Amino acid sequence: MEAAAADLSLIGYAEAVAGCTRCPLAGTRTQVVFGSGSPDAELMFVGEAPGFHEDKQGVPFVGAAGQLLGKLLAGIGIAREDVYIANTVKCRPPGNRDPLPEEIEACEPHLWRQIELIRPRLVCTLGNFATKLLSGRPDGITRVHGRPQDVVLGGNPVTLYPIFHPAAALYTPRMLAVLEEDFARIPELLGAGAPAPIAPPPPAAPRPVGQPVQLGLF
Ligand code: SF4
Repeated sequence: MEAAAADLSLIGYAEAVAGCTRCPLAGTRTQVVFGSGSPDAELMFVGEAPGFHEDKQGVPFVGAAGQLLGKLLAGIGIAREDVYIANTVKCRPPGNRDPLPEEIEACEPHLWRQIELIRPRLVCTLGNFATKLLSGRPDGITRVHGRPQDVVLGGNPVTLYPIFHPAAALYTPRMLAVLEEDFARIPELLGAGAPAPIAPPPPAAPRPVGQPVQLGLF
């Protein structure tokens, strides 16, 4: 019942985002590539941006990198339909250039809302852009890949698991072994259950009667 409601909300949100003009990429895209997969997935992947084929078909990860992602998933016994796949920006940057900081900033509310609606347990960030955005840290993928981190995304505790972008293995074949090794830990991370809830902050000390509230502190 809850999953069906999430599905409907996700469809409604996708329809709203289809007309998004929050950044200049709206002027060069063929269509918004919102995301695809199971609306109640426990495992979500977040990549960089749609490429040529994704822009034409309206589905993320349908090119060579997408095929490799499917193979890597099959290698750990997970079907692509059972996960959710999205990108940091939903419209193709012209010529497949990197997304600009202002484009990522404009588009990030869409990603936060997706995560809020899907409520995944494990989020794998593919490459630098998604890793830096979702971890909120400047550490690059070479440094942090394969290292799970407990974070709060969309108001829920989530395990963030940075992985190299599958496209990296298309250009550097030795990268495939690294990707396979990092993928191999995904079942274990999913089986580990949700990370322990983060302890709530200690209650604030009672304010003496008559003392004015210092508004700048709240
Ligand atoms: Fe909107 Fe994101 Fe597309 Fe920019 S990239 S127009 S913010 S959907």
